[in-house]
Amino acid sequence: MSETLLDFTNVEMTFPGSTVALRGVDLTVGRGEFVTVVGPSGCGKSTLLRIASGLETASDGTAQVSTDRIGYVFQDATLLPWRDVQANVELLAELNWQTKAVRSKKAAETIELVGLTGFEKHLPRQLSGGMRMRTSLARSLTLDPELFLFDEPFGALDEITREHLNDELLRLFVETRFAGLFITHSVSEAVYLSTRVVVMSGRPGHIVDQFEVPFDMPRDPDIRYTGAFAELVGQVSHALREGHH
Ligand code: ADP
Repeated sequence: MSETLLDFTNVEMTFPGSTVALRGVDLTVGRGEFVTVVGPSGCGKSTLLRIASGLETASDGTAQVSTDRIGYVFQDATLLPWRDVQANVELLAELNWQTKAVRSKKAAETIELVGLTGFEKHLPRQLSGGMRMRTSLARSLTLDPELFLFDEPFGALDEITREHLNDELLRLFVETRFAGLFITHSVSEAVYLSTRVVVMSGRPGHIVDQFEVPFDMPRDPDIRYTGAFAELVGQVSHALREGHH
């Protein structure tokens, strides 16, 4: 068994005004697992990540996270427009009071990991959407996350950039073996990226089904064009439709 980094038992979330966002969510994510959550808009996926990150506290149940090295990547790259790539990537390390020498070395490493070497002096507005997202990934990687949370990070990108970043992310996952919890609207992205796909119902969100993804890591990009892949995408889509009612 892999070491469990996130362990949710019967997690409930009710917001003021009695919006029940989550009901009875049981979910574990271990080191070396990449778990993707799919579900209709408003079913509580972001809320789940916010609870995992400690930004929000569950109204009931237990939400245990056994690391404080948590990476969080949002749909928007959330870069500071006046800072170049290097300075944006150093930001989290800076907020953690690391010395200039340590953080610039770390930033150089993660900039290389995401393939942005040579763009250190570029400002966010001089970068493509994909490059901005890589910068955001590099910034999170400076914290050496053990638990990595992704809130639909590639949703706003075109398909080719998205597929490219999916492969980059898988490469990072194979290299560092963090525990990943990833939200997406794309069932094929979910199946391609993850070791397990979790399907949530409409609000109040609860887990209606989970699918282990049997394909090896590192993952062959051509797996996406096989019958076995299409079949699993079909099963997840079916569960998603069923859970919608
Ligand atoms: P998803 O990420 O699946 O689209 P969210 O987790 O963002 O869903 O939201 C789930 C539900 O909880 C939505 O109905 C949303 O309006 C509500 N909600 C989220 N955050 C708050 C909040 N801070 N206060 C009140 N309601 C909220």
